[in-house]
Amino acid sequence: MCEIETAAPEIPVLPPELFLLKLGEVVLKGLNRSHFEDKLMANVARRLRPLGTFRIYTRQSTIYVEPQSGVTDMDAVYHACSQIFGIVSVVRAVPCEKSVPAIVETAKLYLAPEFARAKDFKVESKRADKRFPLNSIQLSQQVGSLLHRAFPKTAVNVHDPELTVYVEIRERAAYVHGPTLPGAGGLPVGMGGKAVSLLSGGIDSPVASWMMAKRGLALEMVHFFSYPYTSNEAKEKVLELASLLTGYCGRLTVNIVPFTGIQEELRRSCPEPYFTLAMRRFMMRISEMIADRVGAGALVTGESLGQVASQTMAAMAVTEDVVKKPVFRPLIGMDKEEIVKISRHIGTFDTSILPYEDCCTVFTPRHPRTQPKVSDFDDIETKYDFEGLCQQAFDNIERVQIPFRNQRDA
Ligand code: ATP
Ligand code: MG
Repeated sequence: MCEIETAAPEIPVLPPELFLLKLGEVVLKGLNRSHFEDKLMANVARRLRPLGTFRIYTRQSTIYVEPQSGVTDMDAVYHACSQIFGIVSVVRAVPCEKSVPAIVETAKLYLAPEFARAKDFKVESKRADKRFPLNSIQLSQQVGSLLHRAFPKTAVNVHDPELTVYVEIRERAAYVHGPTLPGAGGLPVGMGGKAVSLLSGGIDSPVASWMMAKRGLALEMVHFFSYPYTSNEAKEKVLELASLLTGYCGRLTVNIVPFTGIQEELRRSCPEPYFTLAMRRFMMRISEMIADRVGAGALVTGESLGQVASQTMAAMAVTEDVVKKPVFRPLIGMDKEEIVKISRHIGTFDTSILPYEDCCTVFTPRHPRTQPKVSDFDDIETKYDFEGLCQQAFDNIERVQIPFRNQRDA
């Protein structure tokens, strides 16, 4: 006679995954540190809101993100976290009881696919909770030998294994995880205040914007638009670039400045060799007016020394002469290849190279002045109503709100 089983065998279930976000810029001290953490927590909460409900709290330089309800796409959460400035690494882990058997059981279940793929492995432990009775070396050894018994085909290799099993003993629980994803680094957006970023449709200015957001600036975008000399597709392209940047910067506002009147006036009254710089002086002046309106403390451009005639040292002195606020040019010392590399990395390159013209390319002087002087413009700018033209363009700005978009959905 065979015995009839009355109870179904117990199928082990893993607790839900969560995320550990490790903070960057560890050199920050005192007030700066708490400002950093507060800003970062707020940014994480805002960025994850479209992806479900989470419990978010911070302990020992780590932000814990625990999915609660409505979270259907953990990969999207992982990706969103990897774009938030201020985080150096993102860990996707499973919590368990702080004991060797629980850790081993969890690793067996959670990392079974990784064990099936890897030819060798090691265990690396971190003990943030010093009350835990084993030190990290003892813990790694014990967990490692039990895992090797469970997966005998995967050899132990403490030097250069294909799989590293991480065990972190923290305040409330132990956490088991595989590889960590590098975070975006930098400082939390908004921690350094706000700046106005001049966004053309090219390769450089989205990279410049990204670099300054990475240093903790919240950005207000501005685009100078010369319809019908530049097409609606050109404007859409700029809005798309801004949308791609929201994954890093959070939601953005793009100020579309009507620039046709100014360009036509320049064509009438500005000597051709000075045309581009006269135009750029208008751009800077209007951008500063926008900065005053939104409480921004600096302007950002994608200029790089010597890249074009309007980016020589003398030309930049002329361009920034009309504004008082500092002009940040994060690409100033970079080669085009370096800029392109970042552009690909942040996902803006393919959009940047779409062939729509920018207003800068509409009327390009044949022989631009490369060594201009600020005083050259004293005469030129008396030929038109500089202040009036700026004010008129400023009064007719269209402000387009760009909601946060997870670039993975692009
Ligand atoms: P990009 O690749 O960003 O277009 P670029 O090398 O083509 O830069 P320029 O066209 O001379 O350089 O412009 C220099 C900078 O001026 C840009 O990086 C951008 O910050 C700003 N800029 C140029 N055109 C516009 C525009 N239409 N609207 C807003 N900003 C602009
Ligand atoms: Mg350009």
